[in-house]
Order: sequence, then structure tokens, then C-alpha cells
Amino acid sequence: MTIAIIGAGMGGLALARVLHVKGIDAVVYEREASRDARGQGGMLDIHSGQRALREAGLIEQFHAIARPEGQDMRLLEPDGTLLLQEDTPDDAPSLRPEVDRADLRDLLLDSLPADTVRWGHAFESAGDGVVHFSYEHSSDEHRGDGRSAPYDLLVGADGAQSRVRALLTDARPAHLGQNVVELGIPDIDRTHPDLAAMVGRGNYWVFGDGKSLAAQRNGDGRVRIGVNFYNTAEDWFATSGIPFDDPAAARARLIDLLPGWDPRFTALIAAGDDTVVPRSITTLPAGLTWPSAPDVTLVGDAAHLMPPVGEGANMALLDGALLGLALAAHPGDFPAAVAEYEGEMFERAGAAARMSAKMQELLMAPDAARRLLAFFQPG
Ligand SMILES: Cc1cc2nc3c(=O)[nH]c(=O)nc-3n(C[C@H](O)[C@H](O)[C@H](O)COP(=O)(O)OP(=O)(O)OC[C@H]3O[C@@H](n4cnc5c(N)ncnc54)[C@H](O)[C@@H]3O)c2cc1C
Repeated sequence: MTIAIIGAGMGGLALARVLHVKGIDAVVYEREASRDARGQGGMLDIHSGQRALREAGLIEQFHAIARPEGQDMRLLEPDGTLLLQEDTPDDAPSLRPEVDRADLRDLLLDSLPADTVRWGHAFESAGDGVVHFSYEHSSDEHRGDGRSAPYDLLVGADGAQSRVRALLTDARPAHLGQNVVELGIPDIDRTHPDLAAMVGRGNYWVFGDGKSLAAQRNGDGRVRIGVNFYNTAEDWFATSGIPFDDPAAARARLIDLLPGWDPRFTALIAAGDDTVVPRSITTLPAGLTWPSAPDVTLVGDAAHLMPPVGEGANMALLDGALLGLALAAHPGDFPAAVAEYEGEMFERAGAAARMSAKMQELLMAPDAARRLLAFFQPG
């Protein structure tokens, strides 16, 4: 009985690991050519997902790579008013530590037998127990693996733009009215110590004018910055006047788009390197379900892409771990395991998606800074 997992992200790897712990084999097919083929993103804040890491037998290793001080938070308004500063005490429980996505992915990858992940395999289509791949991202050495492979259970863990999803539902991600420009300042302690001190050890948020600037320290000394434009249309980048092919001019244009913002904030943009990346935010409908199929299911963003407010990675880890436990509890009976997993996942992920949508509404409000303050300091 062959379990084929598409995608070596948080959900797919958590599933493979829990199956391995339970003595069940699985193969993970990943589009990227190798573990280092591209940058693996910034920080993830892991809270409910810690349960998945416990089930995976990796909780101690997780706490060794997690950064509890990453929970620090500073909230400001564009004129420079500091609304809130919370620094994590040394002895605080590590309830929502931040972890570099690359470090967490490495932890999961290293916990699997070497041949579990087949790199350079991009899912194309599947049916009648056979999955087909293309190799556009792979080097020649991977092509010997063949263009197709058999499966008894196919798990789509292929993220936001999932192609496996179409086997179960016609639902597609829709634009949320938020566009982000991502920038970064490498080695900030050395290159810009003043800005490093301003951002601090964790999250630095400025909200106002239907925009926000979110800066966050990563474990490797890089500060990642997202400049968010709310209530903007799907084609906003085309009309924004940001020349993405000219990073210096793009940074200058971004600063122009923040008129009246305190120079300390725009200094963060000016200090960025030449990584200036546009990202449109899309989501699936909250509470998406589909009629259960005996041989295909989804985990993570493929199943429930949510607004980016801190639930996605946790849900993906939980999905993977709980599907693994359901498969172990129903040996050889994939339909029963899938039905049990999906019943719980639809409810849990639906609740998380509704909560995330409410938080997103708050962030998109004209008075988001004050509302956030009330959220963090109720009463
Ligand atoms: C490179 C990268 C960087 C990210 N950075 C951040 C970040 O900084 N902050 C944040 O909050 N979230 C980030 N995310 C998203 C975050 O990891 C997910 O929202 C969350 O962890 C859900 O996990 P997932 O397993 O569902 O999907 P993901 O973790 O996105 O993993 C999906 C995996 O499927 C692979 N894949 C996609 N299509 C195919 C295909 N056709 N065939 C085979 N494999 C395929 C992808 O390459 C990827 O490895 C990032 C995701 C990626 C892929």
C-alpha cells in the first residue's frame, strides 16, 4: 500500500515523519530540485503546531532551534507614536516561539530516512492509482526516477497553488485585497545597528493609512520587511508604479507611497538590499469542504489557504500529524483514515480560517493600530 505525498513543506513533511515514527512508509515528491534550491522564507510562529512536533517526536529539537525572544512585539503609528512594546521575559513559557522556516524544514527533513523525499518531481496529474510528474525544476540526475509512480493514497501537500486540489474541489484561491512588497536587510547588526536596535528581537509593526510596515528579525541576522497595501485590487502592482526590475528605484517609489511616515520607518526601506519582491495575498473560502474520496486528500494550504496572520503553518503541521495518526489507527483502511482525518480537519481548520478572517478584517480597518492595541490590551 503506497502513500504518495506531494510537496515537502510543513504539512507533507510532518505527515511523512509521523508515518515514519509509526513504522509506515511513504514517499514525498517535491518540485524543487534540492533542499537548498531556493530561499525558504522567514519566520513562523508555532503555537498549536507544537502538538504536531510532539507527535513527531521532535519537540525537544524544536525548542532547541526556536526563538522565544522572537515573540517580542512593538506596535507603532506612522507618525512614530509607540503604542505598545512587549519584551519576552527570559523565563516566559515558550508558547508561541518564532522559528526560521528553513530550520524547521531542515529538522523535519533530517528526521526522515534519506530516500523519503524525491526532489525535482513536480506533480502534473493523477488518476487510476498513477501519479505523473514533470521535471522542469530538476537536474538531469533526477530524471532516471521515471515520469510516473503508483499510489494507493495520494496526499496533496503542495501548498497555496496546489494542483492536487483540483482532484477534490473546484475551489480556487481568490485575492484578499492585500498586496505586499517584501524587502530585507542582511546582517543588520553590522550594517545598520541603529535600525537593528529599533526593530528589536521580534516583530515591529507600523499600522496606518490603510498600509502597514512589518519588520521581523530572522535567526540569521536578516530583518525581513513587508510593506502591505490594504484594500488594493488584484492588478495593483501593475498600476503602483513600483519598478521591480530596478530595486533602488523600487525602494524609492515605496518610500513615496508612504507620505508623512516617520523617517525612521522609511529608513528601513532605504536600507534594504536588492531583494524587492511583490506578493499578492489570496485565500480559499473559510470552511471549505469536499466529498471525501477514498484515495486522495489534502493537508495544509492546499486544503485551507488562510489570511497570513499566524495560523497556516500550525494548521499544516497539525494536518500532517493527525492524518499520520489516523492512518496508523486504521491499518490498510485508507478510506476510513481519510474520513476520520477530514472530519476533524474541516472543523479545526474552518474555525482557524474564520478567526484569521476576523483578524484580517481588523488589520484592514482604517484605525487598525488602535484596534490592534485594544486586541492585545483588552479593557
Ligand atoms: C519557499 C517558501 C517560503 C515561505 N515563507 C513563508 C514565510 O516567510 N512566512 C510564512 O508565514 N509562510 C511562509 N511560507 C508559507 C508557509 O510555509 C505555509 O503557509 C504553511 O507552512 C503551510 O504549509 P504547507 O505544507 O501547506 O505548504 P508549504 O510549506 O508552502 O509547502 C508546499 C510545498 O509543495 C511544493 N510544491 C508546490 N507545488 C508542487 C508540485 N506541483 N509538485 C510537487 N511539489 C510542489 C512546494 O515547493 C513546497 O515545498 C512559505 C512557503 C514556501 C514554499
